[in-house]
Amino acid sequence: MSLKFCSFASGSSGNCYLVKSDNTAVLIDAGISGKRILEGLEHTETPREMVSAILVTHEHIDHVQSLPVMTKRIPHLKIYANEATWDQIDRPVPEEHRHLFVTGEEFEIGNLVIKPFPVSHDAAEPVGFSIRSEGRKISVCTDSGYISDDIYDEISDADLLLLEANHEKELLLFGRYPYPLKQRILGDEGHLSNLTCGECLCRIVSENPKKRQVLLGHLSHENNTPEVAMQAIVNTLEEERIFVGDELRIDVAKRDTISRLYKL
Ligand SMILES: [Zn+2]
Ligand SMILES: [Zn+2]
Repeated sequence: MSLKFCSFASGSSGNCYLVKSDNTAVLIDAGISGKRILEGLEHTETPREMVSAILVTHEHIDHVQSLPVMTKRIPHLKIYANEATWDQIDRPVPEEHRHLFVTGEEFEIGNLVIKPFPVSHDAAEPVGFSIRSEGRKISVCTDSGYISDDIYDEISDADLLLLEANHEKELLLFGRYPYPLKQRILGDEGHLSNLTCGECLCRIVSENPKKRQVLLGHLSHENNTPEVAMQAIVNTLEEERIFVGDELRIDVAKRDTISRLYKL
C-alpha cells in the first residue's frame, strides 16, 4: 500500500504529473506532448489501462496541450475540470471524455480522494489539487500569484508538496520580458517567486513539523534555474534556522526530465 508521485515535466513550457496508488493512477495536467506523457507512464511502469483520469488545473496551454491526443491513446480516459475551465479550454476534447468537478468539493477516483482548491491566477477558475490515499497526502500548487491562508491550509500537512518557484524576482525585473508581462507575472494572479515560495515553506515547516518531501515546480525558463531556485529557497529557510535534511527534503521538478518516482 503506498502513494506514489512522479513529475513528467514542470515549468512554463509544459506540466504533467502522475499520482498513483496500487490500483489507480491519475495525471495532473497534460501540457507536454502525448509522446512524452506515454514515455513517463512507461518509465514509471504505469500501464495505460491503469490511468483513469487527467485532472486539469486551468486552461493555459502549458497545462492542456495534449488532452485531445490522450483521449485517443487511452480510450476510457476521463478528463476532469471545473465548468469555468471547460468553457475556456480551446482544445477539442470529445464530449464523452469530459467530466466535471466543483472547486472545493472532494471526489473519489478509485481509492484516491481528490480535492481541487482555488488558487490565484489569471485564468477562469484555476485550482491546485490535494490527493489523499491510505493516510498519505500529496498537494500540487502552482500558477498562483500568492499563497492565501486558505491555500496554506490546504497544502501545509501534505507529505509531498509540489510548490511553485517560478522566478527569481531580480532576474525577472532586469530581464528581457516586456513590462506588461513582468507586471502580470509579479501580480497577485501571476506566479510565485522563489522568495515567496521559500517564505511559505518556512511557515509550513515551523507550524507543521513532520517529515515531508518538497518539490519546487513550474520554474521559468527565462527568469530562474534549478540552482538559483534551490539556493534562494535554502537561504530563506536557513535565515529561519530551518535546514534541509531527513525531515525536509527538497528537489527541483525539472522542465524536461522525468523525476524519480517518489514513494510515500
Ligand atoms: Zn502554467
Ligand atoms: Zn497558467
